[in-house]
Amino acid sequence: MDQSLRTRRGLLIVLSSPSGAGKSTISRMLLEADREVTISVSATTRPMRPGEVDDRDYHFVEEQEFDRLIAEGEFVEWAPVFDYRYGTPKAPVKAALKAGSDILFDIDWQGTQQLHAAMGEDLVRIFILPPSIGELERRLRGRGTDSEDVIHSRMQRAASEISHWAEYDYVLINKDTAECLAQVQAIVAAERLKRQRQLGLVPFVRDLVSGR
Ligand code: ADP
Ligand code: 5GP
Repeated sequence: MDQSLRTRRGLLIVLSSPSGAGKSTISRMLLEADREVTISVSATTRPMRPGEVDDRDYHFVEEQEFDRLIAEGEFVEWAPVFDYRYGTPKAPVKAALKAGSDILFDIDWQGTQQLHAAMGEDLVRIFILPPSIGELERRLRGRGTDSEDVIHSRMQRAASEISHWAEYDYVLINKDTAECLAQVQAIVAAERLKRQRQLGLVPFVRDLVSGR
């Protein structure tokens, strides 16, 4: 393929869902399947869950450190979620966009709104719904990482999170992980082909019609 045709703008892919619907699972599968996608690692004041790794799943920080990051303008967006604060560091997003690679964000509707305001055109917003509320609760329990209190508060928040579904470009129902992953990959493939993202098209077509 003509090298110039490979030049494209990076995508900012947002995956949101009520907690437990499966966005971390789908994110992990997408990252394994597609080497052009990297994940944005958020900072959070939430304590680490069993199995989580600092600086891989999140940058786990103290409240004071989070305050400092806000004050120094290090976040492209941040929001309170449940009893904690979560934020997206600005520097890796800028670097990935410059390099033309795609970045995946596992963030909530508040962060999505802020990212949309900051970088509208580059954003692809995907919302993941569970097949039913009963299944959402089963998945939260099945994950085995949260206390009964935490599960209860996440279930109470689910309806309000789901109420933001219409603010997204795509809405998927995660019944089967393989099927949901395939749908996410189809969206990413189509979004990469959007005319305005293919920066190499203008010179390519110019040469094409001039017979070069
Ligand atoms: P989220 O990141 O949205 O909070 P997770 O990806 O942690 O959700 O998924 C919650 C639990 O549900 C995990 O134990 C995961 O293995 C399971 N899970 C995810 N997708 C499915 C699915 N399609 N069918 C059954 N279980 C699923
Ligand atoms: P969890 O504690 O289950 O990892 O995440 C709780 C919620 O916080 C999820 O809805 C997740 O998408 C959201 N979240 C994670 N990181 C960020 C972030 O950087 N910004 C925002 N706004 N939300 C985030």
